[in-house]
Amino acid sequence: MDFELSEEQRAFAQTAREFATAEFAPHAARWDVEGIFPKEAIAKAGELGFCGLYAPESIEGLALPRLDATLVFEEMAAVDPSTTAFITIHNMATWMLGTWGGPAVREQWGAELTSGRKLASYCLTEAGAGSDAGALKTRAELQGAEYLINGGKAFISGAGATDVLVLMARTGGGGAGGVSAFALPADAPGVSYGKKEHKMGWNSQPTRTINFDNVRVPATHLLGSEGEGFRIAMKGLDGGRINIATCSVGAAQGALDAARRYLHERQQFGKPLASFQALQFKLADMATELVAARQMVRLAASKLDAGHADASTYCAMAKRFATDVGFNVCNEALQLHGGYGYLSEFPLERLVRDTRVHQILEGTNEIMRVIVARKLLEGESDIR
Ligand SMILES: Cc1cc2nc3c(=O)[nH]c(=O)nc-3n(C[C@H](O)[C@H](O)[C@H](O)COP(=O)(O)OP(=O)(O)OC[C@H]3O[C@@H](n4cnc5c(N)ncnc54)[C@H](O)[C@@H]3O)c2cc1C
Repeated sequence: MDFELSEEQRAFAQTAREFATAEFAPHAARWDVEGIFPKEAIAKAGELGFCGLYAPESIEGLALPRLDATLVFEEMAAVDPSTTAFITIHNMATWMLGTWGGPAVREQWGAELTSGRKLASYCLTEAGAGSDAGALKTRAELQGAEYLINGGKAFISGAGATDVLVLMARTGGGGAGGVSAFALPADAPGVSYGKKEHKMGWNSQPTRTINFDNVRVPATHLLGSEGEGFRIAMKGLDGGRINIATCSVGAAQGALDAARRYLHERQQFGKPLASFQALQFKLADMATELVAARQMVRLAASKLDAGHADASTYCAMAKRFATDVGFNVCNEALQLHGGYGYLSEFPLERLVRDTRVHQILEGTNEIMRVIVARKLLEGESDIR
């Protein structure tokens, strides 16, 4: 067991840090305030391979282990969790398309997606099917060589600004076994978008509903086989949960670093804040919990890389733990900044707003507990 990163892994992280410092740091606050989706900066991330970090080489992805991908996402999220989180969703959808897409789909979109020239959305949630995603109602009916799609999705990240939709729709009976996955052009006739949602955070990426009204897609756009869609969606989310957890860890590291600096700079009662033991203890707890969260995420990533039987459970544990810790560390860092932490002049309030949603999406933290508890109570798991 080696807890040290290799030289190559440190180099990945360094490249990502330099990229985020140059391309995200000067603009992240403005993208948040003005609600700008920074497609050009995302395309620049794509030039470095960051839009297809673990996508297969058959679509020109880097095919990196998940653990290595977390190193890149963490550095970018320390500066801009919102934009980085979108990039992680794009990576997840691109990996699904590259892994289960047939030749037609991979040739049409693969390299465009891994390069970041085109972007993808992951479309599972519906207005009436959130935590119970297996109850989704959007239908895809095979008619000759095409599927006819009708229904609607809610809360879709990037919607209206992306090029490809990775869509879960019902081709069979009720429940998860009746769901299939598809890749389709985001501007196909019959696809329409709702208004851009007003959100607490994640303002550098749009969130919209999507409506499908008699949308026709070639049967070759099915990912995997009919009925396999929910399994594919959950496989995507195993990695997605590691990615979102990583975004929380990165944001928390950014917040912790800011707090450390501030405790030295700010003087009250004639002394730097760093001299007050109550604040030292708070900082120590923040760092301790953050290190534990990072190790948990890396453990889950390595389980996924190794194809461990309980990998999904570890991903759920890591997502629950790291997103709770990440939010709390950002919030404590804001508190350590006093009133200045509440002003948007400092990045703390943005980090708090951006990390809050990580406890909700890609499966809420309650649903993560459902997954973990179910596995533990089955009696066959080897979670330790
Ligand atoms: C900004 C944003 C971006 C998103 N992006 C995407 C995206 O790109 N693609 C996509 O498909 N979805 C996306 N989502 C949707 C997200 O995954 C869902 O919001 C989430 O899964 C929760 O579903 P819900 O909102 O319907 O909540 P509900 O399922 O209605 O849950 C409400 C509350 O009840 C709790 N609850 C529900 N069932 C149980 C249970 N069995 N036991 C205990 N507690 C339970 C939940 O934890 C939650 O606290 C996004 C959401 C947001 C806010």
